[in-house]
Order: sequence, then C-alpha cells, then structure tokens
Amino acid sequence: MIRTRALRYRYPAGTALAFPDLDVPQGATLLLHGPSGSGKSTWLALAAGLLTAGDGDIVIGGQSLAALSRAGRDGWRARHLGFLPQKLHLSDALSVERNLALAFYAAGVAHDAASARRALEQLGVADLASRRPSQLSGGQAQRVALARAILMSPQVILADEPTASLDDEAALSALRLLAQSASRSRATLVIATHDRRVRQALPAALALQLDRP
Ligand code: ADP
Ligand code: MG
Repeated sequence: MIRTRALRYRYPAGTALAFPDLDVPQGATLLLHGPSGSGKSTWLALAAGLLTAGDGDIVIGGQSLAALSRAGRDGWRARHLGFLPQKLHLSDALSVERNLALAFYAAGVAHDAASARRALEQLGVADLASRRPSQLSGGQAQRVALARAILMSPQVILADEPTASLDDEAALSALRLLAQSASRSRATLVIATHDRRVRQALPAALALQLDRP
C-alpha cells in the first residue's frame, strides 16, 4: 500500500515540485507517467526515502516516511523496499555475487548465499554470478540489479525508466520479470516511465500523470 498526501519537494537549486495525492493498494502496479523533467525520479526518491519531502508525507505499508529519522529510513529502505534505479549502481570492484551480498549487509541481516543464488536464478543470471558488472550486457546488468532489489522480498519495488535503451523484446522481458518479481513477494510495483510500450504491456496498471512544474 502506498499513500501520499500533499507531497512537495523543492530542490535547493530552486525547482519546486508538487505531486497529486495517491492511493495504491498493496500488490497493485502503478505507472508514473510524464515528460522528462516532470518529477518522476524525484517521486521515486521520495518514496524510497532517499529525499525528504518538504511538505506532506508518504506512507508505505503503514510506515510514515516522515516519522523516520534519516538512519531509520536507510534501514527501512534496505529491509522493505526494492529499488531499480536508472543508473544501476553496481560496484565493478565486486563480482555479481558480492554485489548482492552488500544488500544483506545494508539490511543488517546475515548473508544468505542460497537466497541470493535463488534470486539470480529467478532472473536467469545465476551463471553470471562470478563476473564483474562491466562484463555484463546492459540487459544482464539490469537483471542483476533487479535480483539485488528483490533479495529481501520487499513490500514495494520501484523502477526508474526500466525499458529505456532496451529494444522491444528486451523491454517486454524486463517488464515481465518486474511483474513476476513483484507478484512473488506480493509487492506493490511502481514504474516511472515515459515509454508508451510500458502502458501497452501492462494495460491493467494504475497510472499517475505528472506534468512539468
Ligand atoms: P523526471 O524523472 O520526470 O525526468 P526529475 O525528477 O529528474 O524528472 O526532475 C524534476 C525536476 O527537478 C526537473 O525540473 C529537474 O531539472 C529538477 N531536478 C532534478 N534533480 C535536481 C537536482 N539535483 N537539483 C536541482 N534540480 C533538480
Ligand atoms: Mg527520471
């Protein structure tokens, strides 16, 4: 479940964004639409607790993000939220396997090699476990990042432009894997996108249209 009320954010540089109120039932899929610059990535960063709303609040699975301290939000994010950023943030100093191990560390839970293996298998990249991220194709790296995002069976999965720079076949496959991953952990899925193919592939999804400030 995601609920926002009177959500606003102002970047120090000046851009002020105000977001429409929103109620997304647990397990539903929301498409966050809007042109470049309309605030999609900002909304995701607010929902992930990476940015702090200047006004208003986001409640995710009963947890008010405004009620958490910064450290509290970091712990909450690591345990309950899967984030597939546009820039994947995989460390090239580490193998795929060890990149996943970091997620356990961030969540403060014991490393569980078997569940990491299972996540890589579910996304069809288990045979790449000992490679470095730079030795992967873009689509493979995205699958690894998604495996990392779902390790803790998150309540919410956020994906930022997951089909950008993918051809039609890879885009469909990425959307299918996201939807499967979400339904496996009964997570609410939010996809920020300005790609028309996403709407076509997920016709039953809820949608929120953002406009440029
Ligand atoms: P989208 O993801 O829809 O393209 P963003 O959330 O990235 O939109 O950006 C929304 C608005 O906020 C844009 O006008 C953008 O220029 C501005 N913005 C984004 N990041 C920053 C930042 N770090 N500092 C100042 N302005 C920013
Ligand atoms: Mg963006």
